[in-house]
Amino acid sequence: MPTETVYGLAARIDVPQGIEAIFRIKERPFFDPLIIHVSSVQQAKTLTQSWPVAADVLAEAFWPGPLTLVLPKAKFVNPLITSGLETVGIRMPRHPSALKLINDEGVPLAAPSANKFGRTSPTTADHVRAEFGNLVPVIDGGPCEVGIESTVLRVHEGSGNPELTILRPGNIQTKDIEKAFQDRGMTVQWLEPSSAKESPGHLKHHYMPSVPVVYVKSRGLSKSDLEEKITQKLHELPDEVEGVKMVRPSGALRNMLVLKLSEDPSIAARELYSKLRELAGKSPDLILFYDEDRYREEVWTALLDRLTKAASVTV
Ligand code: AMP
Ligand code: MG
Repeated sequence: MPTETVYGLAARIDVPQGIEAIFRIKERPFFDPLIIHVSSVQQAKTLTQSWPVAADVLAEAFWPGPLTLVLPKAKFVNPLITSGLETVGIRMPRHPSALKLINDEGVPLAAPSANKFGRTSPTTADHVRAEFGNLVPVIDGGPCEVGIESTVLRVHEGSGNPELTILRPGNIQTKDIEKAFQDRGMTVQWLEPSSAKESPGHLKHHYMPSVPVVYVKSRGLSKSDLEEKITQKLHELPDEVEGVKMVRPSGALRNMLVLKLSEDPSIAARELYSKLRELAGKSPDLILFYDEDRYREEVWTALLDRLTKAASVTV
């Protein structure tokens, strides 16, 4: 199904075979939980054990939209969806086709991105077809408007000022969230993730296209020095990192293409995965991405997170 972030591989939460099929088709490890997509706040509440005031504020300010709330799960939610965690990730997407599908089914839909585990997320119906062929039917909802995955936010219990943890950066930034609470006279307290377990599925490598990406942070290197550094790093790269197969160049580093992002962070996010697929489609030996000072601003955080993980190596 299309959503405003990326295309999702969806299954009804009350059909365990469907949920299992998501993991099988994606080759996704069971430790990586799925986000449940709802079409109303009321439906979201049924999935949780408790719904703090902060969740109301956030849902009112950002739903439907690219914000996933992580809250204590209701008992009936299949642990396969939540990878056995006591929490559940929920979001109301704003793409009309997604909302219609959820409404038509009359139950929430669990949906991760519609791509093989560890690879580039799809932002068009054609991307999904390229990934899965005829294995899954695709609702063509056009290109995704946001283009990168939702901000994932842990909402801690309590009735005072909200305590929140960003588990995955996205289009909705900390300053947007702070403003939503400020408007209601509340101040956010940001907490760091207490353990890796609170934030599963956060692997060093993810979103990788079929051609290796090199994230170039070193400045002012000569072409030969750059090539030497890349060769060295690729040589040290293991075949697999945290269960994700690494992408390596097939031969010598002759043909290198450069990924250039739009100056506008919203457009850059919208185009990111399409551009990665397009460049990989030209079958270069490598795709280079050059770091810039402007990427240190918060608006670039989510994009840089994806690119850091899409890169096989950083030099
Ligand atoms: P995807 O739908 O492929 O973008 O992946 C969903 C991501 O959401 C997972 O990899 C987790 O990082 C996050 N997520 C979903 N449910 C939870 C949860 N209960 N606790 C923490 N993170 C979650
Ligand atoms: Mg994904």
